[in-house]
Amino acid sequence: MINIKNLTFTYSDSKNKALSDVSLSIDDSDFILITGPSGCGKSTLCRCINGLVPSFYGGEISGSVEVQNIDALRTPTKDMAKKVGMVFQDPENQLVTTDVEREIAFGLENLGLSKTVMVKRIEEVLDTIGIDHLRYRQISTLSGGEKQKTAIASVLVLHPEILVLDEPTSELDPKGAEEVIQLVRRLNEELGLTVVIVEHRMDRVLQSVDRLIILERGEIRYDGDPRGWVRLDEGGLPDIGIPPITRLSAELKQKNIDAKIPLTIKEGRQIFSPIFKNYKWKATQSYISKSNDGASYIAKVSKLWYKYPDGPTVLRDINVNISKGEFIALVGRNAAGKTTFAKMLNVLLKQSKGKI
Ligand code: ADP
Ligand code: MG
Repeated sequence: MINIKNLTFTYSDSKNKALSDVSLSIDDSDFILITGPSGCGKSTLCRCINGLVPSFYGGEISGSVEVQNIDALRTPTKDMAKKVGMVFQDPENQLVTTDVEREIAFGLENLGLSKTVMVKRIEEVLDTIGIDHLRYRQISTLSGGEKQKTAIASVLVLHPEILVLDEPTSELDPKGAEEVIQLVRRLNEELGLTVVIVEHRMDRVLQSVDRLIILERGEIRYDGDPRGWVRLDEGGLPDIGIPPITRLSAELKQKNIDAKIPLTIKEGRQIFSPIFKNYKWKATQSYISKSNDGASYIAKVSKLWYKYPDGPTVLRDINVNISKGEFIALVGRNAAGKTTFAKMLNVLLKQSKGKI
């Protein structure tokens, strides 16, 4: 589908290479995640796939980019747009009309299709994306997620072979982001659309992608199985937002515990629960922050217990010292006793045992 060979590119007003000797090929129906630190060349690579580089940006380029055997670097952008659908970070910048239907029709109008075919295509894409109910809505009234879905519809209606999304969720709230990612995953799975996505919240997509590509300073640092790179991480991969559940394997390795590498919480549970089964968690003690001995404590809590009258014992043997000027986060799941403990500190509740 995409074949990139020895691609090196420097923007016209820049001294450094934005991409340096990048070679990769992407198969039909692949779902590829591109990540890497800010400024490493992710957006530039996307722009090469749809021909915006070099025709729009200028600069010095060598190597080749073929999309379905077409030379992307020398084909007019409007022709590339039919093959490669681009979705950008901020839907506001991508949407050009006032309502959803007109937005989706906008790109189609340049294809010279008959009115009947256009209407059919619009209805088709509204169904595929699941935004039929938004058809007549003003764009200004849509949520971020709905705007981004409209942007995806407006490129998908051109029947591209490849969808390239450059950080499509970074301007969205968590719910909108989740919806957009689910949609993209479905387009890949059900329509077999080839998808290249740049996303820095890796935990959102890692489990769905076939392949992970990590760029660093314009070069490919890793290209392969999404799990394989965690091993690499010990060699100091750039900080690219490794999901904590995935990182746990690497951390256990440092303690000589071998664990498979999970990509999701569910996999993590399967992998780690046998390992942690016999481990006695005593969060109230093991995770208490360094108690700055000798400093002037503003509060000293020792052997504190609390049981609600007619209720459960909530706090068991809490020992913690709080120094002047400390900034402390009290964390724990629901019903762990956070509020109860806070109420003891400001004497809204009186301890059953122990001292404050
Ligand atoms: P990323 O998307 O990974 O953050 P970019 O592809 O935007 O990285 O940037 C790669 C390099 O190219 C950076 O050094 C950046 O400053 C430079 N760059 C990006 N866009 C332009 C541009 N339009 N003109 C000049 N330099 C640019
Ligand atoms: Mg970018």
